[in-house]
Amino acid sequence: MTLIEHIRGESARLAALCTACGACVEACPMTRYAAGVEAAGPGVVAAGMRDVLRDGPGTPEALAWIGACTRSGVCTPACPEGLDAAFMLRLAQWRAKGALGEPPRIRVKEDTQYSPKVKAFARLTLTEEEQAKWL
Ligand code: SF4
Repeated sequence: MTLIEHIRGESARLAALCTACGACVEACPMTRYAAGVEAAGPGVVAAGMRDVLRDGPGTPEALAWIGACTRSGVCTPACPEGLDAAFMLRLAQWRAKGALGEPPRIRVKEDTQYSPKVKAFARLTLTEEEQAKWL
């Protein structure tokens, strides 16, 4: 399995458990800075984020929310399903930035450290054996 397959697999696994209740969106301190998010409502925005994890296009509001994420992490304890919502947002952000070879759907900053950062974060979730295999 490659790192890309791992990202895709984790995206699908978490999206299947997400009910799109919107509690993570409600808890997020960044919604006021993301165009259209407050007007769309938390459940609609969460459903759009889940759609990105399911290989879908997402929605403009969901993409705005994904792009506004500053990794505060307050979304995770808010999830009634016990999901790591912050990790889901991180996965969605990678995917929306084109990490899997798709065209970017949110603004990608010039960042020469983007790939090392993805790997550094991946190390937090992988076993030593998986790291040796994928990174
Ligand atoms: S709080 Fe959890 S279940 Fe609800 S939309 Fe967010 S990730 Fe999905």
